[in-house]
Amino acid sequence: MSLTARDLLQELANDAGLPYQTIAKKVNRLMSKGKGLLDSVKSIAEEHGLKETNYKIDATKIVKEAEQILREDYTQTLMISAVLGQMVEARGRDRFPAPAFFAFIEVLQKISDAPRDTRSETSSEIEDRATRIIELMTTLVSVLCEWSEKGIIGVADDCPESLRDMAKVVFRKTKLLQGGLWTCISCGEIVNIKETRALMCTSCDSRLSRSDIHERFDQMSGRRRTGYGQTSKDEENDYPTS
Ligand SMILES: [Zn+2]
Repeated sequence: MSLTARDLLQELANDAGLPYQTIAKKVNRLMSKGKGLLDSVKSIAEEHGLKETNYKIDATKIVKEAEQILREDYTQTLMISAVLGQMVEARGRDRFPAPAFFAFIEVLQKISDAPRDTRSETSSEIEDRATRIIELMTTLVSVLCEWSEKGIIGVADDCPESLRDMAKVVFRKTKLLQGGLWTCISCGEIVNIKETRALMCTSCDSRLSRSDIHERFDQMSGRRRTGYGQTSKDEENDYPTS
């Protein structure tokens, strides 16, 4: 069973004896018409006389791997959060889709025991992990939620029971966003999208310093990490230049 959309498409491409790009284009075309990822893959499989039940994605495994990455190291997780936060605000090709970001916040909330270490991650390590999280989260929302050409329209029928709550949150926040409303990543307050600052409501934004990503992303979904053995030594190591 595949873990990400990319793996699944590759598997289908191999079985159908077609280049990956051809399969990817077909899937994109079907999805732009409002067909879900798995349904698109199944119909292409059928077209090529392949058994459609061979093409599945295990959503619970996706969440497990994402949790594993986010648990590796606290500083790294904050950096990944910052990268994704910037990407969700970006325009064009670099944009991280909001539903995938909402799913990311949900996974992040489960992580309360990431060790704080003093190892300094290289930027390429952070980039690799962030790329993997992006792939996992975009795949996750495409299987947890029911899609149409208008975007997410509900929770997928075959969404695993353990992930239904997550899918509901993603759906609800996405719907609000379509209506021009944003859910503050810190306090959860629903505000006009035009009044947000760096994904937060104005009062959370003014409470926090703009430059301190630790502070900002510690607040994600209202979590507090003050009990994390934050010593002044840690701080010095994290910010050698400050
Ligand atoms: Zn807020």
